[in-house]
Formats: sequence, structure tokens, C-alpha cells
Amino acid sequence: MALIPINMKDGSIEKEREVIVGIDLGTTNSLVAYMKDDRAVCVKGDDGKSTLVPSVVHFTPGGDVIVGDVARDKLVTDPANTIYSVKRLMGKSYKDVKDLQGFFGYTILDDDTESLVKIRVKDRFYTPVELSAHILRELKTRIQTELDTTISKAVITVPAYFNDNQRQATRDAGKLAGLDVLRIVNEPTAAALAYGIGLDPSQSETIAVFDLGGGTFDISILQIHDGIFEVLATNGDTFLGGDDFDHAILSFFCKQLKIDEKILTEEKSLGQSLRLQAETAKKKLSETDIYEGSVDGQMVRINRNEFENLIRSHIRRMLDCCRQALSDAKKTVAQIDKVVMVGGSTRVPLVKRSVADFFHKPVYDNLDPDEVVALGAAIQADILAGNRKELLLLDVTPLSLGIETVGGLMDTIIARNSKVPTKAGRQYTTSVDGQKNLKVAVYQGERDLVEHNRKLGEFILRGIPPMPAGLPKIDIQFIINADGILTVRARELRSGIEQQIDIRPTYGIDEEAMAKMLLDSIAHAQEDMRIRAVLEARNEANNLLLAGDKFLQQNDAILSEEEKNTTKALLTALLEATKTEDKDVIHRAIETLNNYTTPLAHRAMDKTILTAMKGKAVV
Ligand code: ADP
Ligand code: MG
Repeated sequence: MALIPINMKDGSIEKEREVIVGIDLGTTNSLVAYMKDDRAVCVKGDDGKSTLVPSVVHFTPGGDVIVGDVARDKLVTDPANTIYSVKRLMGKSYKDVKDLQGFFGYTILDDDTESLVKIRVKDRFYTPVELSAHILRELKTRIQTELDTTISKAVITVPAYFNDNQRQATRDAGKLAGLDVLRIVNEPTAAALAYGIGLDPSQSETIAVFDLGGGTFDISILQIHDGIFEVLATNGDTFLGGDDFDHAILSFFCKQLKIDEKILTEEKSLGQSLRLQAETAKKKLSETDIYEGSVDGQMVRINRNEFENLIRSHIRRMLDCCRQALSDAKKTVAQIDKVVMVGGSTRVPLVKRSVADFFHKPVYDNLDPDEVVALGAAIQADILAGNRKELLLLDVTPLSLGIETVGGLMDTIIARNSKVPTKAGRQYTTSVDGQKNLKVAVYQGERDLVEHNRKLGEFILRGIPPMPAGLPKIDIQFIINADGILTVRARELRSGIEQQIDIRPTYGIDEEAMAKMLLDSIAHAQEDMRIRAVLEARNEANNLLLAGDKFLQQNDAILSEEEKNTTKALLTALLEATKTEDKDVIHRAIETLNNYTTPLAHRAMDKTILTAMKGKAVV
């Protein structure tokens, strides 16, 4: 039961201070933190051991979902049903991650389209948002057990380089986990806050945040003035981190044991024990000068000097990124006031030393580098909760603003809680050949379907020159000025035609109605996301049906009767699938059709290229 504070003077029950939690949703590990007696602390699991929750989701044969340490153990024994590094997929399309398939032990649908990625586990399809929601639910349970109360509000951190889609996906994951995400905060900003940097609005400074995690490296240069954190530049490497250190040690051990590293792809359990030994050795070498262990009864050993030689080239790459970030930020080393260390791998002494040498100053490393981002998120949450009166909160948009897209879906352009004034935009196109007019309907609210949100206004962009569907480039800009007036501007970029309207978004909506809209959005998050997934799958299927018909017409000559008939049958099956309410049925039909037609499409393409070359060859 939660504690109820009673005012002893008049016996009244004091309104409970609301707890808003801070969450670091990491690639390798995630954490949740809150303010305990005016100090930010991270929450440990039931076992009281660690504040880290490995960001790994495992689907058991019985259909249960497990997150964290136990799930991580399944990476070796059941890789196809164990999802890790899902953060790398957030807000990404198939095209974006095509080259990464080899990196993952699980199946990413390799559908070469613009739509968002899905992950296949047995015969179900999951979005990165759903998978991240599982991790967030685990963190939510953790904090709820700790505080013995329901938690519904959170601040979640993301890398500074995350784009609009990736931030929105993170918000959606929070919503799906039953959390009202008050703000998405940049990880380097949170790290700075954890050290108290930026809490005094009268101070101006420029800082560098060096974040070396398990698989990723980020360097950010931030300018802080009047309590505003501005990202001047970011740089890094999305495939450089502690895992590379482990791998270097693993190779070193292999040489020591005279094992050919290549056999490890077959000898999985030997590979796993070597990997575990390598990570243990690395961590040990952050404290001591030598590590000795044993693998299958044979001794392995490495000293700190040998380890440092193994990772020197990696560190050189990191410093190159730092140099580039400084140059992009137009700053010199001397202009950097503070350097903050983040991420488990910054415990490696050579990393610390090299960074301090590079920036010519001691680094901030008093706080636990695993926890610092979550701790800062909890401080940001505390500021939002209004518990720090001395800190002024900038005006923010109370509800998200967006437009209606195909299928009645809400496409958020300015997320709620964005600072005002603000400006954001996105490009759209037409869905029908020769379309001349485009309706731009503006909505306010958090639900996935516009019918559940509040309509603010609409206008029609007329006079688009006739073009095939998908060719016009329509840029839609949302601009909110300091008075809170929203201007929506649509412009077709090829022809330059333009339309705009001004709206006062909060007009006529009171606090209570606003709170209800927010609560509704969370209560319906599951159902909304299910409907959204079905609508998106249907849109994708419809595009494929059109493309399929075109393909059959254009390649009539090079396809056999059997190929034509099978393709037609698969198209019909897909059409039938679109009539169901089950996204997995639609995705399976899409996948079957794609698998069958991809080789045919390649053949058609070769043929076209061949014809084109023949044409050129006639000299
Ligand atoms: P992410 O931000 O990617 O979720 P973390 O910040 O949690 O990652 O960092 C995880 C990495 O930190 C792992 O590679 C882990 O081996 C490494 N690490 C943790 N503790 C130590 C240590 N004492 N010495 C060296 N590396 C460490
Ligand atoms: Mg991290």
C-alpha cells in the first residue's frame, strides 16, 4: 500500500507527490530511476543484485515473454526466439537495416520497402515498438514493486542523434507499456543533469559527453545556457563498443590456446565460454593488472598492458570521432569546460586516460557510468513534476499535433510537451495517379486513429500538376509561435503551389478534457496499436497488389505460364488476407508473395539491363 501523508496541523490529507520515473532504454542494458529523499537512485531487481536490466526479450515455447538476465541466457541456446539490440531498429525501415541482417541472430523481414521493420518470431510479427514496450513493462514492474504504488508517468532517454521517427517510436513504446511519456530527453543531456550541470540557469558552459556502451559509441558536444541544452554536434560509431573489446580478448585467448577462431561458429558452447571469460577478464582488468581464468580446464591469462595494446586502434577511432564532433561544433578543446563519462565501457582505465589526455582535463566519472543517464532522467522527471520550483519550465504543447494520413491514421508532427516556439515538418506524397487535390486535416491528441482525436481544422491544397502516385513531394510544416498559434503550411515542391492556415490549438479545451484525452490514449494503447498495425499492413498489401498487377503486365513475355498462375494465385491470397483483421495473416501473405516473386523480379531486371546494354553495344 502507498503511504498517505497527513498534515498533522489540520488533519487534512496532503496530496501525494506524484512520482515520475526516469528511464534509460539502452541498446545493451536498461534502467529505471526515481527521486528518493531528494536524491536520484536506480532501482534494483528482486534479487537485489543489479540495477541493470539486459535489453533482451525472449519468447518461450509456451508463449510467455521473458525480459532481462534470464532472457540474455537464451541468446546462445535459443537465438531465433531471443531479441537483443532492438534499439538499433527503432523507427527504421527495411531499407535502413538491410545491411544489418547478418548482425542479428533473429529474423528481420527483408522486404525491400519504405515501411517500418518487423521481426519474425515463429509465425508472429513484432515491431521494435512492441518489443521495447516489453522491456519498459519490466522496468515499470520493478519500480512498482519497489515503491508499492502504480507508476504511470515517465521520462525516457534517447541518443542525441535519434530522428523524429525514432523518438516517436520510443514514445509509442512507452504508451504501449502503459506509461505517459512526459518527455523524451537526450542521453547526454540526462548525463549532464546527473552531475548537476545545467541546473543553475545563470551558468553558461560547453561540455562534451563521451558515451561508450556495449555496442555503440557516441560523442556529443552540448551548449548549455539559461537551462537550455543545445546539441551542437554529435558523432560516433554505431558498431563500436565494449563488445569489440571482448572480441579482441577472445581472439587473444584463442591464440593462447592454439584454437582456430573459425571453429567457434560450429563449437557454440566453447565460443560462449570464451566470450564470457573474455568479458570477465575485461572487467577484472579495469581493477587489477592481470587476469587468470580457465576455459575447459585450460588456463588463459592476460595482463593489462596486453589488453591495452589490443584496444588501442579502437580508441584511436573514438578520438577521431571526438575531433570531428569538435570541428562540426566549431569548438576547440580549450573551449570545452567539462567532459562527462557515460556507459559501462568507460570504466576501462585506458579509455578514461585517453579521453582526459585528448581534452586536456580531468573527466567527470564519480557517478556509476551505467547509471548516470537514468539518474539524470529521474532529475528531469522531478523538474517536470514541479518539485523544483526554482527551475523555470518553458511553455510546452499540451497535446500532440499532426495530420490525417491514409486509412485515417494520425501522423504526429509536433509531439506533446515540445517546447514552444517550435517548428517541424515532414514530406508526403499522393496515393492515386494524377491526384490534383490533397486534403490536409489537422488533429490534436494522442490516439492512433484521427477519429478519436480532436480536429482543429482542414484545408485543401489544390492544383497539384498531374503526376503518377508517389511522385509529388508535398512538404507540410507545423510552426507554433511564442503565443501558441499554430500555422500549418503545405507546399508541393515540384510546382511550388502552397496553402496555409492559422489555428489556436488549445482554444476551447480545458485541463480536464486534456487529462481525459491523455488517459484515454493510454487506456486504448493496445487496441489502437493493433488497429494501426492492421491498417499499415493493409496499406502495404494494397501497394503490393498494384505493383504485382503491373509486374505481370510488363513481364508477360519472360514469365512462364506456371509462374504467372502462381503469382496470380498469391496475389489473390493476399487480397483475401487484407480482408481479415489479423496483421500476422497479412504479413505472412506478403512474405510468401515476396519470396516467390523476388527471383522473378531479379530475372526481369537482368533482362532489362541486358536489353539496355545491347542497345549501347551497337556502335
Ligand atoms: P548500452 O548503453 O549500450 O546499453 P552500457 O552502458 O550498459 O551499454 O555498457 C555495457 C558495456 O559495458 C558492456 O560491454 C560491458 O562489458 C561493459 N562494462 C561493464 N562493466 C565494465 C567494467 N568494469 N570494465 C569494462 N567494461 C565494463
Ligand atoms: Mg547507454
